[in-house]
Amino acid sequence: MNDRIYLSPPHLSGDEMKRVEEAFASNWIAPLGPHVDAFERETAEFVGVKAALALASGTAALHLAGELLGVSRGDRVLCSSLTFAATVAPFYHKGVECVFVDSEPDSWNMSPQALEMALNDCVRAGKFPKAVILVNLYGQSCDMDPILALCARHGVPVIEDAAESLGGRYKGSQTGSFGKFSIFSYNGNKIITTSGGGMLLSNDAEALERARFLSAQARDPAPWYQHSVLGWNYRMSNVLAGIGRGQMAHIHERVEARCRIFARYVQELEGTGSVEFMPKPEWSEPTRWLTVLTLRKPAVSPLSVLEHLERLNIEARPVWKPMHLQPVFAGARYYPHEEGRDVSAGLFRSGLCLPSGSGMTEEQQGRVIEAVKDALAL
Ligand SMILES: *Cc1c(COP(=O)(O)O)cnc(C)c1O
Repeated sequence: MNDRIYLSPPHLSGDEMKRVEEAFASNWIAPLGPHVDAFERETAEFVGVKAALALASGTAALHLAGELLGVSRGDRVLCSSLTFAATVAPFYHKGVECVFVDSEPDSWNMSPQALEMALNDCVRAGKFPKAVILVNLYGQSCDMDPILALCARHGVPVIEDAAESLGGRYKGSQTGSFGKFSIFSYNGNKIITTSGGGMLLSNDAEALERARFLSAQARDPAPWYQHSVLGWNYRMSNVLAGIGRGQMAHIHERVEARCRIFARYVQELEGTGSVEFMPKPEWSEPTRWLTVLTLRKPAVSPLSVLEHLERLNIEARPVWKPMHLQPVFAGARYYPHEEGRDVSAGLFRSGLCLPSGSGMTEEQQGRVIEAVKDALAL
């Protein structure tokens, strides 16, 4: 049996161990420490924002973004439907009403026209959203200009879930710089990893200081343990921040490697006429975190391709199942791209994510390409 090819495994550079050893040698192995400070500074500089806060996960960063915006029980948020459940889980758990917005076909991200319909309905109903949550899917930015203009016109703050798009750009600016609050994830399958972690970013440095306080159990400045509010234990450990710094030093190479892998898939598979790749609008420089395609042959389903790949010990995945189709959100309000046209549902039904790890060898890629060709010919 061939070695297993994973969807998006961690890719170590060798620089991580040096940083981890520094942490051990200096006994900074607790949460907080010099690597955490430097990782925050380096990430804020890279993205071009004023402040960053290293946390235990991207989900924790989303939770704190909601806290900072005062989103609470009974409030409403608007969110991209085509995403991973972690985008909305912190809001769902608070008892917040999650209203879902479809994708546009050109970027697969939030449809500005569907968002406009949703906002107009909110105005009519007199129930205004506390936040709009954007997701940069599979490493590709949303079309920020029309979306941010709409949100600004209605005075709604934006949370940018850039968990999958670290290193991607919109009109030349880094993703993660567009939200009032933005987040990254360093989960094991992301473009870089700390083995688990996240970052909250903002140009509002004061708000991030508030988040820092809430993320470290919200202790009042008193000589004893005193709390005017209660917080969370969400900080990143200094050991993991060391791994993150070692990874971050290679972010450009990692993005380039994923884009190269994408280009090879396109070159070898587009000619079959049976697949179409995730489009790239001219304003987007995606990371190609995952190579995603849709199947054009009605006779071939993504699940049959997945099964064939699995038999050959290759890990692939369907496209995210949109939130408005999830049992947990049955009955949630949803705004399709156009009346009678549900773009995200179509992408889910026909879409497939191929192995895209930046450490993939050419031989491994060849195996995936042959396996996909076989599956398409079945
Ligand atoms: C991975 C991911 C998250 C969650 O990040 P964690 O660090 O795993 O908590 C949130 N949103 C999206 C779109 C993701 O892909």
